[in-house]
Amino acid sequence: MKLKKHLGQHLLVAGGVIGRIGELINPQEGDVLVEIGPGTGNLTREILRYPFKELHLIEIDPDMVERLKELLEEGRVKIHGADAVSFDFCSLGESLKLYGNLPYNVASLIVENTVFHHKCITQAVYMLQKEVAEKLQKGSSWLSTFVKTFYEVEYLMSLPARFFRPPPKVQSGLVRLLRKEKLPELDLVEYRDFLTRLYAMKRKALKSKLEESLLTKVSIDPMRRVESLSLEEVLLLFHLSKSPTRPPSHDI
Ligand code: SAH
Repeated sequence: MKLKKHLGQHLLVAGGVIGRIGELINPQEGDVLVEIGPGTGNLTREILRYPFKELHLIEIDPDMVERLKELLEEGRVKIHGADAVSFDFCSLGESLKLYGNLPYNVASLIVENTVFHHKCITQAVYMLQKEVAEKLQKGSSWLSTFVKTFYEVEYLMSLPARFFRPPPKVQSGLVRLLRKEKLPELDLVEYRDFLTRLYAMKRKALKSKLEESLLTKVSIDPMRRVESLSLEEVLLLFHLSKSPTRPPSHDI
């Protein structure tokens, strides 16, 4: 079959490594699973060997959806011909485990959509471009901070291009996002916009992005750069930057 490059179609073909990924996903009885970009179903078939309650497949390519239909014989599988970038995961359940060998061209957008649905996603195991996977775990970017606000990020393993057909130009990395126990309540759109502003032009001092008075109020040196901020400091600045500045009180 002809694979579509613009849909990031690089199929996992190495049996040994597919088995290992299955072990890392480790489905359990009662789990509601969601696979993103199942393609021809190589990883899906491995997962079907495990106990779980339901498995939802989210695949954008109608040709792939057609091929996946044979898996429907398994009563536990449901297929959604849909875009994982904008899919409303919470329509599938309250406590989901996601996984997938993601299409690399939109992988960051799928990770972002995962965070937007963190209330109903307890875990995600994603295959990403290695560089993107490493940056999520230890880098300093708006997306890694957005993810780490809600999830612990664990780098599971690297995979060379030869495990895929056709081999991608880049190496791959598998990560696990495990939801934290304590989740901050915040407006996700506002928070994302704050982070993208904060992390733009990373080399500039914080005072070029936030009011100096706000920084000094919480004893953060205005000359520091965004990379040096801890997650707690980022959250503090987000909350402070939202609270309306009180008008100065005037003595009569
Ligand atoms: N998981 C399969 C295929 C991975 S390739 C395997 O390991 O063999 C990526 C898959 O994601 C392809 O099947 C592609 O059609 C699908 N895809 C691409 N963009 C998508 C999107 N926005 N939403 C859902 N699926 C998408």
